[in-house]
Amino acid sequence: MKNYDVVIVGGGFTGLTAAYYLAKAGKKVRVVEGDNSPGGLAGTFEFSDGVKLEKFYHHWFNNDVHVPALVKELGMEGDVITLPSRTGMFFNGRMWKLSTPIDLLRFTALPFIDRIRLGLLVLQVRRVKDWRTIEHLSIREWLEPLCGKTVYRVVWEPLINSKFSIFAETVNAVWFWKKLVLRGSTRDKKGGEELAYFKGGFGRLAEALVTAIEKSGGEVSFNQKVTDVAVAGDKISSIKTPTEEIVGQEFLFTPAFPIISEIFESSGKFEWLDQMRRIKYLGNMCLVLRLKKSLSDTYWLNVNDPGFPFVGVIEHTNFDSPENYKGSRIAFLSRYLAVEDPVWKFSDQEYLKFASSHLQRMFPEFDESWVLEYRVWRSEHAQPVTERNYSSYVPGSETPFANATISTMAQIYPEDRGTNYAIREGQRVSRKLLEQLSSH
Ligand SMILES: Cc1cc2nc3c(=O)[nH]c(=O)nc-3n(C[C@H](O)[C@H](O)[C@H](O)COP(=O)(O)OP(=O)(O)OC[C@H]3O[C@@H](n4cnc5c(N)ncnc54)[C@H](O)[C@@H]3O)c2cc1C
Repeated sequence: MKNYDVVIVGGGFTGLTAAYYLAKAGKKVRVVEGDNSPGGLAGTFEFSDGVKLEKFYHHWFNNDVHVPALVKELGMEGDVITLPSRTGMFFNGRMWKLSTPIDLLRFTALPFIDRIRLGLLVLQVRRVKDWRTIEHLSIREWLEPLCGKTVYRVVWEPLINSKFSIFAETVNAVWFWKKLVLRGSTRDKKGGEELAYFKGGFGRLAEALVTAIEKSGGEVSFNQKVTDVAVAGDKISSIKTPTEEIVGQEFLFTPAFPIISEIFESSGKFEWLDQMRRIKYLGNMCLVLRLKKSLSDTYWLNVNDPGFPFVGVIEHTNFDSPENYKGSRIAFLSRYLAVEDPVWKFSDQEYLKFASSHLQRMFPEFDESWVLEYRVWRSEHAQPVTERNYSSYVPGSETPFANATISTMAQIYPEDRGTNYAIREGQRVSRKLLEQLSSH
């Protein structure tokens, strides 16, 4: 049996980045991935004719530094596509552009005074220097006094409801504060911002990482779900999959907390297992539509009409050219939901019907005959729910076992999960593991 320096559970961006830097440093690394391809939430799939796409839409912002740095290190800068963001809002039966301050002034759905309050919000938000001072508040409790009830109801409430579903009133204000601060800082002097995308999707970048890991002597295996660990005193000696026992010096766990707690179920560390289970998640169902025709000319359309059950309409081919998709148009409709929600059990066909009826309401010309092909992707742990005082109860990366470390997207806080942070954390944890290995 091989004895690896580091065994990593999960081949998403956290696990792959950590493996890449460890393998580059000459360590014997093994990544064990449960799925059949790399990239995790940022993985890709192929339509029947080989056209590749994200399972869950992805882009990065111009103030994200870790993705472009990694892309550069892999020598793939030529594969980055950038686009001035074309975002808009569907409200009261029509589209509104909302990318620049001028667009905001033209947003007559709000009284003039509220448009000004909305514009000033970014400045007010920047006054909060320490997120801990607002961690005990819900988003509504913090925002309403700042921007007023009308702005909150028209602009923010529908977005927060679609993002956090049944947890909309319990997620703490830090999530929103961080989004506004970060998005405010991505804007240029005219208020515009630029988004970036990796040609062929983030899954292609994940594949490039796998190649680079293997080139440095590391190993990545797929279709291997880790189910258990073997404990030896205050350490773990191996992890187990249904077909293999994998032995190592150090172990890194990158899936969601509930999955890690299942893997450690037999360890007997009940208090710690309960801490991990305390973290709630929302699932995501993402419908990827391949269409004959375009729905609108907006890339990211927020839908603020009550009753629209998706985060928005994300028309990817208003970002990356339709030529890269054999002339077809690509749209994502994503819904965050508790897995207890009856919609979670919808078949793919039922979900398509459900989505089509809402699309028709917004785009009266839309007809199901426009759909050339579609896929529905489900992730049970798509979004960690950061409730009030999250920092006081989220488990850290250390575990009761001296050689087991956790780096999972629920620990990115106060930032929200994202590939940029997965890469940052993968890098950080690789340094920590190198130190631990040198102290053996
Ligand atoms: C709908 C949606 C849209 C998003 N949009 C963006 C965006 O535009 N830009 C952006 O930067 N980020 C976006 N993100 C977030 C981004 O995808 C994640 O933050 C990032 O990919 C997390 O990487 P990770 O490696 O930490 O976790 P994951 O990607 O979850 O990786 C964990 C890996 O562990 C594997 N695994 C799980 N259980 C086991 C097991 N028992 N044994 C072995 N392997 C296992 C999983 O299969 C997975 O590959 C989005 C996410 C969602 C859900």
